[in-house]
Amino acid sequence: MKSDFDVIISGAGPAGCTAALALGSSGLSVALIEKERFPREKVCGDAIPAYVPKVLGTIDPSFRAALEEIEDKQPVSICRYVAPDRTALDIAFRENGMVCRRPVFDSFLLKLASGLDNLTIFTGKLIKNIRTGSKGVAVSTGNGEEITARLLIGCDGSTGVSKRILAPSIHEPSEGSVAVRAYFSGIKDNPHETLEFHFLKDLLPGYFWIFPLPGNEFNAGIGMPSAIVTSRKLNLRDTMMKIIETDPVIGLRFSGASMKGNIKGYYLPLFTRKRKISGERFMLCGDAASLVNPATGAGIGQAMQSGRYAGWQAAECFRKNDFSDEFMKSYDLTLYGKLWRSNRNYMIIRNLVLKNPAVLNLASRAGNSNRYIRKALAEKL
Ligand SMILES: Cc1cc2nc3c(=O)[nH]c(=O)nc-3n(C[C@H](O)[C@H](O)[C@H](O)COP(=O)(O)OP(=O)(O)OC[C@H]3O[C@@H](n4cnc5c(N)ncnc54)[C@H](O)[C@@H]3O)c2cc1C
Repeated sequence: MKSDFDVIISGAGPAGCTAALALGSSGLSVALIEKERFPREKVCGDAIPAYVPKVLGTIDPSFRAALEEIEDKQPVSICRYVAPDRTALDIAFRENGMVCRRPVFDSFLLKLASGLDNLTIFTGKLIKNIRTGSKGVAVSTGNGEEITARLLIGCDGSTGVSKRILAPSIHEPSEGSVAVRAYFSGIKDNPHETLEFHFLKDLLPGYFWIFPLPGNEFNAGIGMPSAIVTSRKLNLRDTMMKIIETDPVIGLRFSGASMKGNIKGYYLPLFTRKRKISGERFMLCGDAASLVNPATGAGIGQAMQSGRYAGWQAAECFRKNDFSDEFMKSYDLTLYGKLWRSNRNYMIIRNLVLKNPAVLNLASRAGNSNRYIRKALAEKL
């Protein structure tokens, strides 16, 4: 088996597969190395942002068309915010999003990538170590094998190896969030095609979500900044069960529901500031670059956007034969140029709105009584 490539991509989640797709027509030889075998579970709310088809379409229109063909997905057209005083505000998406279980969505992306002639996919291969030097990179895998390349794109998630070795200073657990989720059937009174966010007073600045899946199943969960989970000494699984069993509104809706499997949790590395996410011979993407929305906890779209830009930047590195720290900075600049402005607004929401029940109540009432406010909010989604 070939062991020397132009580019190594570590991790085959949304960031890694999108980076591979973006390199599809580059003529470069690419290795995508993933520790799991697909379909693999990924703890997530499964809500795929509405702009994801566009990200794929800008790489190749046929990728966007292929996404439409996924059958096991639930379209969503409305976002419902339920304020602490239980006032509900419905905002129609400008474009429909979807909810799709991650094993289905991630396998779709990997299958799409597997059609690329220039890509070699290694699954079931854990990367244990990464070495970078002036001439290239070398990764060593669990069984002692070494794979080399001129450049590495680190897409191995929040607890992966690339962030830990190549940019240890950007791993800041106290600046992240933690979230837990479980699958249910039999939840009552579900609004049609709606993502529900419940801002319960005792859970702020966190929230409880209910997202619809095909077949009248649901992904429900809660998320909260990890610093608050620690300071309040919370066990999020217990907190979630308590809400399901005792909350006067949510409890009633879950009264006949059954949970499928267990409640599972994971860490979310939030995009709280600009960090240095590239260096000589490497770039980091998605959760490895801490790009999760600080207010909503969504990260799939940013993972795919960063994967796409990293793929394009990699092709540029080969065209110019420049892999220097200085040249890589254009990846950071392009990505932050695209994401930072709207992210700053989400930071304001996180710092000023989500902590304050009175402001959330007011926002919900104002949105219900004023269509211009609803329109402005819809534009932000
Ligand atoms: C509970 C919860 C709910 C969430 N809900 C949503 C949501 O509804 N919508 C949304 O947009 N975002 C959501 N997110 C965030 C979203 O899951 C992530 O932002 C997204 O998965 C990031 O994609 P990624 O490709 O960067 O990383 P990942 O999806 O984590 O993929 C990384 C890949 O790298 C592999 N890997 C890791 N280490 C190694 C190694 N050493 N060697 C080889 N391979 C390795 C992993 O197996 C994995 O396949 C949620 C997160 C959590 C925890």
